[in-house]
Amino acid sequence: MADGEFCVVCGRTGRPLVDGVCAKCAADRTALVTAPLRGTVTVCPHCGAREVGGQWERAGASRVLTAEDLAPFLKVHPDAGVRRVRWEETNATATVRDYVGHADVVFRGVPRTVDVPLSVRVLSRSCPDCSRASGRYYTAVIQLRGPTERRLERSVELRARLARVWDDLVAEARPEWRRAVSFDEALPEGIDVFFKETLPARAIARLAKQRFGASLTESASLFGRKDGHDVYRVTFCLRFPRGMGAGAAPAPPSRSGASVEQ
Ligand SMILES: [Zn+2]
Ligand SMILES: [Zn+2]
Repeated sequence: MADGEFCVVCGRTGRPLVDGVCAKCAADRTALVTAPLRGTVTVCPHCGAREVGGQWERAGASRVLTAEDLAPFLKVHPDAGVRRVRWEETNATATVRDYVGHADVVFRGVPRTVDVPLSVRVLSRSCPDCSRASGRYYTAVIQLRGPTERRLERSVELRARLARVWDDLVAEARPEWRRAVSFDEALPEGIDVFFKETLPARAIARLAKQRFGASLTESASLFGRKDGHDVYRVTFCLRFPRGMGAGAAPAPPSRSGASVEQ
């Protein structure tokens, strides 16, 4: 560095400069550690295993989120090193946890603490080991949910409302569709209904969309291999508008055309 060179931001001399800016000023102007607005962690409610990239790991872990769950969401600037992160929980509902990570960072030799907000949605799903162990076989699941990811209703009321919608829905369904139901699970965010076969689940999900005004998203995940073929489990997420199923006597859907072909 030539004598008399100064930082173009703070004007100080005698500090190492990169592109004319000292490390302290560069750190002020750089996002050293960031996180996405919203992360998701999927936890098996039975054994605490986490689903990461389609694999289940850490069986036996606590169901409470720890630094091990949160740290992977952090993105660190390539010139910064993270020494330590203290996580502070700032808000918690049954399904969403808000944190601020206080990250001790060193950037070009200058230490500082960066506060990173992170909101994590916690999903419960039985891992394959636990569903096998419980003898609960299924190939598809219908998720009954409220209108948005953020819960607008208390869990108990939401589930009562969704149970009424479900009763109306299965009353419209063909008997062979109903017989494919294996078991169901109450969750903070709604109800999961598990099916021994996928086609009846898809038929009921489509009925809910066409006749009950639900929004439907379908996704598949690799579950394992059987007889040399990949076996997929299919998830149908049904979101019901807020008024649907509210009150004791929901408007009866028209009975005409009750059988919906797929
Ligand atoms: Zn400076
Ligand atoms: Zn499990």
